[in-house]
Amino acid sequence: MKQFEGKNMLNFVKELPNDDVCKEYLAKYKWQDGFKCSKCEGTKGCLKKGFKYHCYNCHHVESATSNTLFHKVKFGLQKAFCIVFEMTTSSKSLSSTQLGARYGISQTSTWFFMQKVRKAMESSKKYPLKDLVHVDEFTVGGKEEGKQGRSYNTKKKKAVIAVELTNKHQVKRVYIKSIDDYSCKSLTPIFEEHIDTSAKVFTDKWRGYEPLKEIYNITQIKSNNGKNFKKLHIIIHQVKSWLRTIPTHVSKQHIQKYFSEFSYRINRSQSKKTIWHNTIIKMIKQNPITQKQIIWKLN
Ligand SMILES: [Zn+2]
Repeated sequence: MKQFEGKNMLNFVKELPNDDVCKEYLAKYKWQDGFKCSKCEGTKGCLKKGFKYHCYNCHHVESATSNTLFHKVKFGLQKAFCIVFEMTTSSKSLSSTQLGARYGISQTSTWFFMQKVRKAMESSKKYPLKDLVHVDEFTVGGKEEGKQGRSYNTKKKKAVIAVELTNKHQVKRVYIKSIDDYSCKSLTPIFEEHIDTSAKVFTDKWRGYEPLKEIYNITQIKSNNGKNFKKLHIIIHQVKSWLRTIPTHVSKQHIQKYFSEFSYRINRSQSKKTIWHNTIIKMIKQNPITQKQIIWKLN
């Protein structure tokens, strides 16, 4: 059973035609480096009917979906695989309402599963942005939509964005972080998690960046209504218009997950061939999360 590649939906359905084949796919890649029992850590066992692994040491039987983000998927693995396919291979994905209708699943179940996919799309923080990086803040929701720069409207959700550009000023990679305010304390995490200290960073003249100059190579220039940060503002525009297409309300509590999803696709736009498979692998490696954890953001 080979790794699925590409963006062709018909090939996808041909290669993964039903829940059983999808389970086989999951089992193959879950245990591709060998089996390790989740109960006793034993490594000896055998694959049983239904793609379950039987541990010889403690006789625990583990399913292909347990200890992964596919744990307790209510609507079958093929539909789950299809939702991951839509979320990774398209440029904008679809809303939970649209995907639910397409696959005959309730909007709520679709939404919960999509939150799990978004969990797998969170950055590993292992590959910070390098070279030329532009940073700016923006807001989502509320009135005055589209205005650039900082807003103090409390209904708006605030965010900070960092974009790595090639020397020809093309967008290479993007990270976005939801923030509570524009203080240095709130602006620091995107630097610590996503920007290499060697990067040449450009920001606007906002004083919140000042203290970060001690560690980072930051040049502050006038934004000139965004003209000096053209590519970055195109990305901001894209993320805002994408969020507007989502009919369900995106609360402040959950918005970070949508930012992660948006950045995940941009950062992998050069690897669309393998993006679906690699996301499945990420979902296999992550521990399961419950609906409660999703609602209360305990993950
Ligand atoms: Zn065991």
